[in-house]
Amino acid sequence: MNLVAPPENYDLHCHSNASDGGLSPADLVARAHGQGVTTLALTDHDDVVGLAPARVVAESLGMKFVNGVEISVTWGAHTLHIVGLNIDPEHPVLVAGLAAIRAGRGERAVKMAEGLRKVGIVDSLAGAYLHAGNPNLIGRMHFARYLVAQGLVKDTRTVFKKYLVKGKPGYVPHQWASLTDAVGWINASGGQAVIAHPGRYQMGSAKMHELLEQFKSLDGAGIEVVTGSHTPEQYPHFANLANRFALLCSRGSDFHAPGEGYRDIGRLPPLPDNCRPIWYDWNK
Ligand code: AMP
Ligand code: MN
Ligand code: MN
Ligand code: MN
Repeated sequence: MNLVAPPENYDLHCHSNASDGGLSPADLVARAHGQGVTTLALTDHDDVVGLAPARVVAESLGMKFVNGVEISVTWGAHTLHIVGLNIDPEHPVLVAGLAAIRAGRGERAVKMAEGLRKVGIVDSLAGAYLHAGNPNLIGRMHFARYLVAQGLVKDTRTVFKKYLVKGKPGYVPHQWASLTDAVGWINASGGQAVIAHPGRYQMGSAKMHELLEQFKSLDGAGIEVVTGSHTPEQYPHFANLANRFALLCSRGSDFHAPGEGYRDIGRLPPLPDNCRPIWYDWNK
């Protein structure tokens, strides 16, 4: 009999094909379990349809499961992502808010395909939908996978760089949720709001401080410190910022699909010692 409990391994940020991940919720959870995750949050972009099937598999494997979401936000000139943890996926305020921001994605995809057609890439709208497990959640990653599958670009990272970021032919500006709304919906549903991968936003320190101050005043709970999107040098930096603004620290791979950039699910260094983890009171 094995009396030694496995070490706790929290992965609180990942995607299934209910948004722009490559695996079904069931396969994603099985992979997380195989990689040693003991508590998993599924955090699909702007939708919660993957949570129920993921939870069934997680519970059958004896893994703790946390209902999550990653909400797209427009904050001034920046697009931010706010993760919600321990949300109630049926809460009407959250459900209505997410439906409203999903609604613009179809029209945006049409415009993206039009931009790509102008540089000679045809049929990308239908192509992107072929790669989307959830047609309500059509996004840039589905276009990226289509271009790679067509042999036009070697990998999705390069597609983003050449075609899908600001200033490139397939980029279409979009108005997402406000920060106030996103944090409000998460809190209304009983969840905790966490700023995803703060190191990715290309903000100077004054802007970052303004964001953290505003987020804190909205009752935001934490920020991601150890994420697949941060370099190891950024871990202590964001741990210190979290402490300075009395925010909790989160940890998540932001895994999307096998072989596609980012960190593999469950394979992250621990939080720095001076962090107060977002999960510190979950089992109390
Ligand atoms: P969307 O919500 O349609 O704007 O797509 C955003 C998603 O695209 C992110 O969640 C990432 O999965 C992916 N993404 C954004 N920027 C990049 C990038 N520079 N390289 C690779 N993937 C990216
Ligand atoms: Mn994504
Ligand atoms: Mn994100
Ligand atoms: Mn993500």
